[in-house]
Amino acid sequence: MADIWQQTLNWQPTSQQQIQFQRLYELILQGNQKLNLTRITEPQEFWEKHLWDSLRGVAPLLNNSNQSTHSKEISFIDIGTGAGFPGIPVAIAVNQSTVKLLDSTHKKIHFIEQILPELGLNNVTAITGRAEEVGQNSQYREQYDVALIRAVGNPSVCAEYALPLVKKGGLAIIYRGNWTAEETTNMESAVKQLGGVIENIEQFITPLSQSIRHCLYLKKVANTPVKFPRAVGVPSHKPL
Ligand code: SAH
Repeated sequence: MADIWQQTLNWQPTSQQQIQFQRLYELILQGNQKLNLTRITEPQEFWEKHLWDSLRGVAPLLNNSNQSTHSKEISFIDIGTGAGFPGIPVAIAVNQSTVKLLDSTHKKIHFIEQILPELGLNNVTAITGRAEEVGQNSQYREQYDVALIRAVGNPSVCAEYALPLVKKGGLAIIYRGNWTAEETTNMESAVKQLGGVIENIEQFITPLSQSIRHCLYLKKVANTPVKFPRAVGVPSHKPL
């Protein structure tokens, strides 16, 4: 896949990173025998939907990290990480990153904690919790440069989970499939209330199955008011 990485992301994994991706694939397949981790088990589909898609969202950060040996450490949180996506591929690929993986399902976090040493990842930690509670805990609130969130809820729910955890000046990256201009309009008020602005919306096509994807980049420009995130369940039942 070296050529496709290069052509699409202007980046290539080192041999060490390739070994880690391969090991991750094997560990997910093994874990899937006991836990329902992912439907995506074919090698090419895994590569495209779990590896490539995870890294496409952070493409600008990938290249910065490989070009400069003095680049600053970037702290990430992946909210609703499931089996570790997009957070684990990001932790493998972005030099000088620290990644916190958050999921409300303990068995998924337990699985992740078991595979981290096998992947040789010492820049990753995982916690079980709800984004609504973690976002109100001062240990985590406004502590991250970048929050990642893929396939967790509707866009304003994702914004309410993600923006409280991001430092002022940082970024929330929301991974989506299809996206419409109407959705942008509908989301604007939520993002503003949370202290963010929609900085960029990127559309791209996945390299193997030619599927459409979008990433929303929300920049945090003001502190999030203390009332957000609202109590467990409220963001998804009454989206902003
Ligand atoms: N991001 C992964 C998994 C998506 S499935 C991927 O793209 O493959 C959604 C995950 O979000 C589930 O594992 C679920 O347990 C978790 N989740 C849903 N609501 C959550 C919340 N409020 N706080 C934390 N995790 C949540």
